[in-house]
Amino acid sequence: MTNLATLLTTSAAQYASEPAVILDELHLTYGQLDDLSARGAALLKANGIRPGDRVALVLPNVPHMAVLYYAILRAGGVVVPLNPLLTPRELTYHFQDSGATFVLAWEDMAEASQKAAEEVEGLSVLPISARGTVGHLQSVEPVTEVVAREDSDTAVLLYTSGTTGRPKGAELTHHNLRTNAEVSGELFDLHHGDVMFGGLPFFHVFGQTVALNGVICSGAAVTLLPRFHPAKALEILRRDAVTIFAGVPTMYVALLHQAGQDSQAVEGIDLRAGVSGGSPMPVEVMAKFEKVFDTTVFEGYGLSETSPVVCFNQPGDVRKPGSIGTAVRGAELRVVDGDDHVVPTNEVGELVVRGQYVMKGYWHKPEATEEAMRGGWFHTGDMARQDEDGAFFIVDRKKDMILRGGYNVYPREVEEVIYQFPGVVEAAVVGVPSEKHGEEVGAVVVFESGVLDSRDREELTRELDAFVQERVAKYKYPRIYRLTDELPKGPTGKILKRELTLDA
Ligand code: AMP
Repeated sequence: MTNLATLLTTSAAQYASEPAVILDELHLTYGQLDDLSARGAALLKANGIRPGDRVALVLPNVPHMAVLYYAILRAGGVVVPLNPLLTPRELTYHFQDSGATFVLAWEDMAEASQKAAEEVEGLSVLPISARGTVGHLQSVEPVTEVVAREDSDTAVLLYTSGTTGRPKGAELTHHNLRTNAEVSGELFDLHHGDVMFGGLPFFHVFGQTVALNGVICSGAAVTLLPRFHPAKALEILRRDAVTIFAGVPTMYVALLHQAGQDSQAVEGIDLRAGVSGGSPMPVEVMAKFEKVFDTTVFEGYGLSETSPVVCFNQPGDVRKPGSIGTAVRGAELRVVDGDDHVVPTNEVGELVVRGQYVMKGYWHKPEATEEAMRGGWFHTGDMARQDEDGAFFIVDRKKDMILRGGYNVYPREVEEVIYQFPGVVEAAVVGVPSEKHGEEVGAVVVFESGVLDSRDREELTRELDAFVQERVAKYKYPRIYRLTDELPKGPTGKILKRELTLDA
């Protein structure tokens, strides 16, 4: 059987009375998750959902999200997970583009989804409520049969902006997602008895594979946090004896910052490991986190289009600061130049990927698929280098590179230096249009709370500037600085560089 939902049915047969999904006092066992998803599948069938039909899920990380995700798969449907913070206009775009026929929307998103669905013919919305839905499902006769699907059938349409343009649906197959969940479980050594932190949204590929499918196929448990907040996250790590923290770097930054305010913050927390991905983990932040939480952080790399994990700091790898590790089993990675020729060791080029985790293509977008998959390799849009030991380093995103007076400046390199300056919490380096150089290098920097109030900003900026100038070449250091309290973040916590404004 290749249906991705068999990850759940297989674990449920073995761990029926063990916890699978936790949200505060609510604990769903494997048996309950299995049963509720079988009833959910029956409900979908009764609503006319046939194999291959797209069903949109507009839910935060609540147990219902896990129940309905597997319910859709069991019925043979294609899951279209959407960010519950989308506006009605954005929802309409995703409903139309995916050709969804049914929408399952969390109670506080039901109205927006309904409004969005009015623009789309033949689309029904079913509101999902915290109590009502479980009660309702319990009155439905379950369909225990899992609809058989081919390896190459699409399981999830995952919307991503990719490297350019409007969001596109990456068609991830049952095989893509199942094998990536299995390999992720192996890489993190996830097993029955482990408790994973579930603050990464399931509508995004990182949370979906690592904190949902990876957990479920390993017989472990996931404890959910629908909206990330560092104090609440620390409380959950302690309360539920979390063993593995999975997060994007900004979550690590927030936890450290929170821990810095309270000397007892990490007491009673016993993390076996941290897993970071989604954006570059600053070396300084990783080292601090490992010290404060007395654990080891493993950085990995991937994209929506690759299910996602294709590179990871694996057991046996020599740990190198700033490296995303080596290619995981089942994935091939290369660094190529503009003509798709492999570049020599340690030279920078675009990272391309091939193998069983790479999506089938972009839904209904043959040209974009062709472009991204040219030569049989998926082009990631990330600039990278590979060293003599096979370890990969992400230099930066292709589109974030700054071209200053003919020189390439990779923001990440400059950010790493800014992170070393005392009191810095977060930094983003961006290009600012400039008449003289085409682009100028600018930096937006967040300091620990209180620093900006107690220090003269100009003086602090001068000190920071001198610090950076000592450490990077003249063409790279920022000429423009803005010190601020917060950086704009996307739904998964990635810093949204496009939304940063800096005046030349
Ligand atoms: P998404 O499809 O939203 O998961 O975004 C994928 C992008 O996240 C990649 O193309 C990279 O630019 C970035 N990314 C993911 N993991 C890492 C990492 N460990 N280091 C640097 N960038 C990363």
